[in-house]
Amino acid sequence: EILFDTRPKTEKKDFFDREKEIEELKDIIAHRDFAAVLGIRRIGKTSLVRVTLNELSNYMALSINLGKLGNKKSYPMEIFSRIFIEGSVEVLRKNTFAGKVSKIIANRLGIDPTDILELNWVKISIRLREFNTHDVNEVVRALDSISKDNGKYLVIFIDEVQNIKKIRGFDLGSFLHDIYEWCNNTIIVVSGSFVGVTEEILNQVEEEKPFFGRKFFRIKLDRFNEEKSKEFLKAGFTEEGIEVNEKVLEEAIRLFDGIPGWLALFGRSYSYAMKHSHQVDIKIILKEAAKEVSRDFTRFLKLSNSPMRYAETILAISRLGNKGSLSEIRESVNSLFKEEIEDSRLHELLGTLINYGFIIKIGRGKYSLPSDLPTKLG
Ligand code: ADP
Repeated sequence: EILFDTRPKTEKKDFFDREKEIEELKDIIAHRDFAAVLGIRRIGKTSLVRVTLNELSNYMALSINLGKLGNKKSYPMEIFSRIFIEGSVEVLRKNTFAGKVSKIIANRLGIDPTDILELNWVKISIRLREFNTHDVNEVVRALDSISKDNGKYLVIFIDEVQNIKKIRGFDLGSFLHDIYEWCNNTIIVVSGSFVGVTEEILNQVEEEKPFFGRKFFRIKLDRFNEEKSKEFLKAGFTEEGIEVNEKVLEEAIRLFDGIPGWLALFGRSYSYAMKHSHQVDIKIILKEAAKEVSRDFTRFLKLSNSPMRYAETILAISRLGNKGSLSEIRESVNSLFKEEIEDSRLHELLGTLINYGFIIKIGRGKYSLPSDLPTKLG
C-alpha cells in the first residue's frame, strides 16, 4: 500500500531506488546552489524533491506549484500571485513567525494580516492586481531574513517551472536575480516535465545575467530499466502480500516502459483487483496512460502555431513503425499528406517535438516515439 501509493512520496522508505539522485540534490542544497530536476511526467520529480527535503532539517520550504495551471496559453500575473500567496501562507501556518510575514504581504496588498493568514480570497482579490514580481521578491526577502533569524534556510520549490512562460507579467530572470543578490539564505529548486523547454528557460535566465557561479545544477531522472522495473513491482507486491506470476510482471514491464508513476498505478489497481477477486484488465490502465499522453499532445497542439505540421510529423513517424531517419520521415510526411516539406523545416519541427519530449533521438540519426503506448493498445 505504500510503494504503490499514487501520490508523490515524502518518505525515503517509500521511494524506490534513486539513492544517487537524492544524494545529488542534498549536495546541491548543502552548497547553497540552485537545482533543476528534469524528467517526463510521472517519473518522480516531485517525490524526489519532497523525499530529499524530508531527509534534511533546518530549513523552511515554500512550494509554488505551477502544475496547478490549466490548459490555457496564458494567465494573468494574478494567478501566479494566488499560487504564491497560497504557498507562503502554508509556510506561515507551520511556523511561529507567521505574524511578521503575513503583515508584510498584507501591507503590500493594503489589507488586514488576518485576511492573509485565513486566506480570505474575497479580501485578497481586491488588491491582487497590483501585486507584481517586485512584491513577490519583497515577500521572499522577508522570508529569507526571518528564516535566517531562526537559524534556518529557505528552499523555494517551483514545480513544473516550464509553465512560468504562461504567466503574463512575471519576470523569472529578475525574480531569480533578486534572490541571488539579496537572499543568500535561499535556495531554489525547480522541476520541469518538458525537459527541452525547461532547459531553454534556464539557459536563457543564466545567460541574461550570469549568476556569478551560482547556477542551476541539473538532475535528470530517467526511466527504470527492465530490471529495476521488475524489482519495483516485486517489492510493491510483496508489501501488498500478493503473489503475481512472471508473465504478468513481464507484460507490465513491457507495457509501462519504466515510468514509476504508471508502474505504481498498475500495481495498485492489480492488487486491488486481486484482493477483491475482480478480473484484472491491464488494458484499462494502459488506456489511461495513453489518454494522458494524448492529452499532453493535444494541449501542445492547441498552443502551437502549426498544429497540423506537428500532428503530421507524429503520424508519419508512427507509420514508419515508430522510428525513422529525417529523410524517411520526410518521405512519409510527403506521401501521406501530399506535401513538399523541406528538410530544414522538418528538422525544426522535430527539434521542438524533442524539447517537449514527444519524440526522442535514438542512435544513427533516427527519431523515435519515446513510448509506443498508443500502439500497444492495438
Ligand atoms: P512527477 O513529479 O515527475 O510527475 P511524481 O513524483 O508525482 O512524478 O510521481 C508520480 C507517481 O509515481 C507517484 O505516485 C509517485 O508515488 C510514484 N513514484 C515515482 N517515482 C517513484 C519511486 N522511485 N518509488 C516509488 N514511487 C514512485
